[in-house]
Amino acid sequence: MHRLIEQFLALLLPDRCAGCGRAGTLLCDRCRASFVAYTGEPIRVADDLTDVGVAFVFEGPLRHALHQLKYRRVRRVARPLGALLATHLRTLPWPLDALAPIPLHRQRLAERGFNQAELLAREVAAISGLPLIVGPLMRVKATRQQALLDTPGRIENVANAFIWNGTPPPARIALVDDVLTTGATVNACARALRIAGTREVYALALARSHRQHSR
Ligand SMILES: [Zn+2]
Repeated sequence: MHRLIEQFLALLLPDRCAGCGRAGTLLCDRCRASFVAYTGEPIRVADDLTDVGVAFVFEGPLRHALHQLKYRRVRRVARPLGALLATHLRTLPWPLDALAPIPLHRQRLAERGFNQAELLAREVAAISGLPLIVGPLMRVKATRQQALLDTPGRIENVANAFIWNGTPPPARIALVDDVLTTGATVNACARALRIAGTREVYALALARSHRQHSR
């Protein structure tokens, strides 16, 4: 039903670029061309993560587009952004069995109505042909917003926030998120998967800021 309403609205409202507002497309060529590949400091890989892959620097039109997706609820932007993330995944030598989005707590999910990481992961799964796991990996602690916390605070905030509740997970999973900051959240998620039996956990994010908090 939701999808029908969305399709109906799409007929009435012309697409606008989520990066710059230009009419006619969800993501224009000029904005795509402005995305800067993430080549910043190598991401320190924590014990529970095998590797981390980030497509772009979190700045400019991409930052704006992700804001449109997450806070302005422009869900359709997940399609072109997810396609870009799938393209980045193809460049990584990861032997994967499945993809899983970083889950939201059900309370946050109810407030927002959707999980932006899941929308991106769905696109990546559709394009890559990898199965998508949604459900068994659960966020059981309603954490405070990571953006408000420093690094030790972030680690503390998400500790034990996730559990795996289902049949044993596949051996090699990539966790998908929109923006990676300190990695505390994805690490906590990886921990839960490792406890459940996943041998290799990877982290795939669309963007990361060049300026990381080293506090
Ligand atoms: Zn644009």
